[in-house]
Amino acid sequence: GGEDIRMKYRYLDIRRNPIKNNLIFRHQVTMEVRKYLSDHGFIEVETPYLIKSTPEGARDFVVPSRMNEGQFYALPQSPQTFKQLLMVSGYDRYFQIVKCFRDEDLRSDRQPEFTQIDCEMAFVNQQDVISTFEGLIKYLFEKEKNILFKNAFPKITFNEAIKRFGSDKPDMRFGMEFNYIKDLTKGFNFKVFDDAQTVIAICAKGAGNFTRKKIDELTNWVKRPQIGAKGLIYVKCNEDGSFKSSVDKFFNQTCLSKWADNCKAEKGDLLLVLSGKKSSTQKQMSELRLRLGKELELYKKDEYQPVWVVDFPLFELDEESGDFHAMHHPFTSPKNEDVDLLFSSPEKVRANAYDLAINGVEVGGGSIRIHDRILQEKVFNCLGFTKDEVNSQFGFLLNAFEYGAPPHGGIAFGFDRLCALMANQDNIRDFIAFPKNNSGRDTMIDAPSELDDIQKKELGIKIIDEI
Ligand code: ASP
Repeated sequence: GGEDIRMKYRYLDIRRNPIKNNLIFRHQVTMEVRKYLSDHGFIEVETPYLIKSTPEGARDFVVPSRMNEGQFYALPQSPQTFKQLLMVSGYDRYFQIVKCFRDEDLRSDRQPEFTQIDCEMAFVNQQDVISTFEGLIKYLFEKEKNILFKNAFPKITFNEAIKRFGSDKPDMRFGMEFNYIKDLTKGFNFKVFDDAQTVIAICAKGAGNFTRKKIDELTNWVKRPQIGAKGLIYVKCNEDGSFKSSVDKFFNQTCLSKWADNCKAEKGDLLLVLSGKKSSTQKQMSELRLRLGKELELYKKDEYQPVWVVDFPLFELDEESGDFHAMHHPFTSPKNEDVDLLFSSPEKVRANAYDLAINGVEVGGGSIRIHDRILQEKVFNCLGFTKDEVNSQFGFLLNAFEYGAPPHGGIAFGFDRLCALMANQDNIRDFIAFPKNNSGRDTMIDAPSELDDIQKKELGIKIIDEI
């Protein structure tokens, strides 16, 4: 049956072996996670679900309180503040396999409630956290997949990842890196390139035989609103050493051969070029690169290439509002050497934050935290919180920092996603017994649903039609 039928009769759907095996696999990974972490001195501590907002960048799910009429709990987007408080309390190695709740638009790899392996350690630096959890991932792959990673996982800075692959979770199973060729395209009266902030080319090895129809299809694909490119320019490197391109009118063979040299293209290859604003062109090219990598089968389906992405910016600028947001969350510490830039050039401040990406999937992320009241207040200030807002939302954490808070840091892994990735599948729903659909509904039990009048009265809630 289709997805809707499967979800409505989920209890029958999960009788089938493909799903049953996934759930058994997930159970085994769970057991190994607990074993590894417990063997490394971590203890599992549960933290509450009825709390108040934890800013991880999504909307909160809220729960009305009957005993405190007119007031609401928020479900945790993560146990972030609680695990930091546990560090202040002297529980130096914490973990929890825990549900998190985020009200955001859904995709095949997102669920409104999902599970994290959430961890925190005291008296550590970035490398300590990275080594400990690289150890966990290696252990899981060895136990469950018989795959041995002999070397340390490579590291790449955020800036380098964006520059070379257009993504902060680069798929390192294949090359096809970006080439910036604006300098080679200037002054030929080709307005599209002349007006562009950047011109990026990638070389698709062996794709010189793509037909016109195929290239038209790729062009329409990058022009879809989801990707948003204005057009796609190609250069075929013919077997006889000549070039055929969609911009032959503007660029002669000598020019095109310079582009090809720059991209290390050889006979039989295809160059694809996008131009425009730097950040959007990088994103568009990243999509095209991922699609071509898959189509040209530039990697094996059962190959795993992990990479740590480090040195994230502390803030990102919301182009619409002009405000700065925390790129991870507001408890992430800035690099010591960048603290002085907090107010003068916030966009330049780098964070002690790291993500682990495997095959282009972000499986985990974390940071070394701020453990000092004054610095935390400064960062809230940069994020536009007033003193009153800070005190009412995060006063408990700032107060805790006055009672001997150790330096601490941690990480959280998306557990559903990690299981799907390890089992070589794309859809995290196939690793969750009773998932929600794309509109956040459970169609089997028909939730969410309306409250009856008695419940509404008890909760002091009135539904106003216009809203
Ligand atoms: N709380 C973070 C998250 O949910 C992870 C972390 O910083 O440890 O993404």
